[in-house]
Amino acid sequence: MTSETGTPQRHRVVVIGSGFGGLFSTQALKRADVDVTLIAKTTHHLFQPLLYQVATGILSEGEIAPSTRLVLRKQHNAEILLGSVTDIDLDARTVTSEAMAITRVTPFDSLIVAAGAKQSYFGNDHFAEYAPGMKTIDDALELRGRILGSFEQAEICTDDYERERLMTFVVVGAGPTGVELVGQIAELAHRTLHGSFRNIDSRNARIILLDGADDVLPVYGGKLSASAAKRLTKMGVEIHTGAMVTDVDRDGITIKKKDGSEKLIRCQCKVWSAGVQASKLGGILAEQSHAELDRAGRVHVNPDLSLPGHPNVFVVGDMMALDNLPGLAQVAMQGGTYVAKNIAEEAGGRPHHERKPFKYWDKGSMATISRFSAVAKVGRLELTGFIAWIIWLVIHLMYLVGFKSRLTTLMSWATTFFGRGRGQMTITVQQVLARSALGQLGNGKYAVLDVDAAKKLAQEEAERVLALERSHNGTRHHADGGFTDEGSGADAEEGPAEAAG
Ligand SMILES: Cc1cc2nc3c(=O)[nH]c(=O)nc-3n(C[C@H](O)[C@H](O)[C@H](O)COP(=O)(O)OP(=O)(O)OC[C@H]3O[C@@H](n4cnc5c(N)ncnc54)[C@H](O)[C@@H]3O)c2cc1C
Repeated sequence: MTSETGTPQRHRVVVIGSGFGGLFSTQALKRADVDVTLIAKTTHHLFQPLLYQVATGILSEGEIAPSTRLVLRKQHNAEILLGSVTDIDLDARTVTSEAMAITRVTPFDSLIVAAGAKQSYFGNDHFAEYAPGMKTIDDALELRGRILGSFEQAEICTDDYERERLMTFVVVGAGPTGVELVGQIAELAHRTLHGSFRNIDSRNARIILLDGADDVLPVYGGKLSASAAKRLTKMGVEIHTGAMVTDVDRDGITIKKKDGSEKLIRCQCKVWSAGVQASKLGGILAEQSHAELDRAGRVHVNPDLSLPGHPNVFVVGDMMALDNLPGLAQVAMQGGTYVAKNIAEEAGGRPHHERKPFKYWDKGSMATISRFSAVAKVGRLELTGFIAWIIWLVIHLMYLVGFKSRLTTLMSWATTFFGRGRGQMTITVQQVLARSALGQLGNGKYAVLDVDAAKKLAQEEAERVLALERSHNGTRHHADGGFTDEGSGADAEEGPAEAAG
């Protein structure tokens, strides 16, 4: 290939996303005769399966989110650009990205799109204000603030009725993420925090897991679902299956049972882990290629993971729909590596019609319930309890990126699992308030442009919450919290918080 100036140019590969699909495809191109540009909207690679441990104070964000730039430092054919991709032009073969008021247009010969998925609220996006999901480091830190902040508020709250609400934690979605998170909230309440408050007993926390399906971990079913439910129940988790969420607001979550009855669960801390929606970039690709999207917005790809009619454009990981493959890290890693191998071989002269179809090797799946207890399915083999937990531990350590992360993670796990401590219990008001403040700045779009404005908004939001608390609580509550969504500590039924909110 030759550039406009007549100098020879290597095959240009653009990779969108630094998650499992993006990072693994970039690394698999290390020895290929190509130039790689990885564009991602975060500066880190995120190991999503351990986000719940950041949210519950076991791990720090650095342990599960190493800097992509440092991970790829020695890969000299790879360049990393920070930017949110806003457009892809398949005819012009360019990708447009934006970061900090700078717009970049990057040309490509081959494109790998691995922008993943976000939380889906099934058309009820307003639920997000009170029930954040857990997809990013920001989400996990916000959740940590909300979980620990609720205990703190309960400690200073003198109203029994409100305290009950503050000490009720609800996780929506009984898939692996929901189960892992609810298990850790239970361990926080029963082990880590036990004995550290003077006015409340953290073990009295009500911890609820909700799902519209009939089972916990419905993807596993049978023995594994039953085992997970039994273990969670033993840990004090209330499980409500067959429960559809019909509303979420500051006060709590309303559910509708199969018999048609509706019920409000009063709770302060709510977490949503009930569905995913693929990146909007799938829609941009579909519009230009006439590829189809499935209900979750995933792009139907050819058996070689290419976009119909565009053999040089690939979609991998959570954005891709092929043979009902699940949204798992292994699917993204194997897809990314497979696509990179093809690109490398074709840059060496092999024609693209000689590609073999992508074959996914199912290495099994697993979920932890608590320390020393997990469920795992490997082929037909179903494991529960301690053995499954050891397998979970080894596999997660193996796939964490970087020796240092593995070492520090192992140490953090030793502290938490063998002792009662957790090393990452720090929370800040900003963790909880920043999302709504950034939202007011226009979906976070301008946050990078004007950090001072973002700080000012966060401050105003904090002051507003404190003012609401003071005006409502009078002498009943100590107005020094500010960890919650709207009007922390205010009584749901009668307060100005509700009127204002
Ligand atoms: C809480 C949680 C727990 C999980 N647990 C497990 C588990 O135990 N086992 C398992 O196998 N799987 C698990 N998964 C699923 C697994 O993490 C995903 O399947 C996997 O991350 C998908 O990889 P991906 O590369 O497609 O997307 P991601 O890893 O999500 O990466 C997407 C990348 O694209 C970037 N991006 C997005 N939009 C843009 C844009 N417009 N411009 C630029 N960059 C963009 C993001 O910043 C990110 O870097 C879990 C997921 C979550 C959220």
